[in-house]
Amino acid sequence: MITTSTDILIVGAGPVGLTGALIAHELGLSVRIIERRPTAQSAPAAHVINARTFEIWRQIGLDVEKIRSAAQSPEQAGFVHWVTRLGEKVLGTLQYEQQGDDNLSVTPTPLRNLSQHLLEPLLVSELKNCGIGVEYASTWEACEEGPEGVISTVAINGQNEKISSKWLIACDGASSSVRNACGISMVGPDNLQKFLTFHFRADLKLLTAANPGILYWICDPRAGGTLISHGGDNEWVYMYPIAEGDEAQISPSECDQLIRKAIAPTSATITVLRQSSWTMTSQFADSYRLSRVLLAGDAAHRFPPSGGMGLNTGIGDIHNLMWKIDRIEAGVADLALLDTYEKERRPIAERNAQASMDNAFKMFDVFMALGIDPDIEVAFANLNRVLEDAEGMKVLDQAIQNQATHFDMLGLQIGYRYILSTSTTELEPLTDEIIRNYRPSVEAGNRLPHGWLERNGEKISSLDLVSLDDYLIVGGSEFVSDLPHIKIGQDVQDTDNWWSQILGLSSNEGLLVRPDQHIEQRLSSI
Ligand SMILES: Cc1cc2nc3c(=O)[nH]c(=O)nc-3n(C[C@H](O)[C@H](O)[C@H](O)COP(=O)(O)OP(=O)(O)OC[C@H]3O[C@@H](n4cnc5c(N)ncnc54)[C@H](O)[C@@H]3O)c2cc1C
Repeated sequence: MITTSTDILIVGAGPVGLTGALIAHELGLSVRIIERRPTAQSAPAAHVINARTFEIWRQIGLDVEKIRSAAQSPEQAGFVHWVTRLGEKVLGTLQYEQQGDDNLSVTPTPLRNLSQHLLEPLLVSELKNCGIGVEYASTWEACEEGPEGVISTVAINGQNEKISSKWLIACDGASSSVRNACGISMVGPDNLQKFLTFHFRADLKLLTAANPGILYWICDPRAGGTLISHGGDNEWVYMYPIAEGDEAQISPSECDQLIRKAIAPTSATITVLRQSSWTMTSQFADSYRLSRVLLAGDAAHRFPPSGGMGLNTGIGDIHNLMWKIDRIEAGVADLALLDTYEKERRPIAERNAQASMDNAFKMFDVFMALGIDPDIEVAFANLNRVLEDAEGMKVLDQAIQNQATHFDMLGLQIGYRYILSTSTTELEPLTDEIIRNYRPSVEAGNRLPHGWLERNGEKISSLDLVSLDDYLIVGGSEFVSDLPHIKIGQDVQDTDNWWSQILGLSSNEGLLVRPDQHIEQRLSSI
């Protein structure tokens, strides 16, 4: 048994673990990342990568334009449709999230749809460019306290290795072995609904050309479920709810028949790549930390995918966590700084979970308007009756319009505020207004609002002023401070009046901004 040591051991090379390793490297911490799968993820799950996640990757120096170029275009993935079946009657359509260039006034990197199985290899390759390889086929098994922090036992190709790390970060997903070994339990409903999913390849362009989109809700009760486009109209996931105990695998020809029930007749070949089941839950770890072991991402929380917040919330966790570890390692903060990790991140995850749950349950209104019934033939007759009835269609249209918040969550994605240890202000109750509309704010705890500035002739985002390894002071043109700071109008040019118009600050005010781009304090000149 070999024993090696590192500053940080990350368990799990999902999006959160990979981002954690990239941040650790950027901060100059030594890191190892182990993954029990033999290779990178090949099954799609998440596809919504929101603006804040791209901002975080931008801050750590990833080639964000390259990552974004692998995403579906807003034209291709800009709508969600309710259809009888794919390629047949469209019953309603909503815009899918804020992806357009008009959002460049509030973020340098608007939301895109990039499937998780296409994203993860890009993050792996970024990590490789930093000289760090994901250690595949390596399963974390156990840990004990060690002189430097934690000693983990990891099974690699049938051999055990002991890895000593100052910090152990559990990014090992919803069934986290690290969390279980630490005796941390999950609280909340563990089985809201089971789903069967089929990942398949088929050229369905002819069926989608008139109505391109990312999600298609199938309203014909003889099929039901949701079709998710994972790119180019060639790669799809078909997902539908099942009863408890119905998870058994079915034959390829049965898969083919099931999928064809959800789409208009087509001569396209359907190649089923994978079938699997998953359980919708809404759960939180009862603690995010045990001494030097920390949980991030799905290991700490899991909630319905309705809203596309799971992966994105996990990226926010790891961003919040790593700079704190860095400051402790640098000797400029003590362990108490880590108490703020859960204090700040849990309320955000709880709000995201609440919005996701609300989205999931509100969707029933559409199926109620369609006359849902346990008897499929009755439900089908009800659907046809609604389609022929102007009043029924009006009720259906209203039910669909009421889903708008589900697919328009910019406020929640970039407008969240941390409850800082210096602040006693609780978060305001969640409303549709808060979820949908982003309102820039300089109240402590908020993300520094984005605006376009110019530095040495180069156009930058105000977020680019913040380096991950230090606090930043930025002040107006007449701001006075003994501490090093960036002065607007002197060090950076503000032709769009970001300082006065978006931030609403006067020329003798300043802001103290944390390494994670969240505002710590509003400052006056001294
Ligand atoms: C259908 C569906 C759609 C979704 N859509 C979205 C979306 O659009 N946007 C969004 O933000 N989220 C979405 N999500 C949620 C998202 O997929 C998860 O939140 C995200 O994958 C969590 O990332 P993670 O890195 O925390 O965990 P995971 O992605 O689960 O990664 C954990 C990794 O740890 C590894 N591992 C586990 N145990 C061990 C061990 N003992 N040793 C070594 N390695 C181990 C696993 O193999 C895995 O690779 C969706 C989920 C589903 C099911």
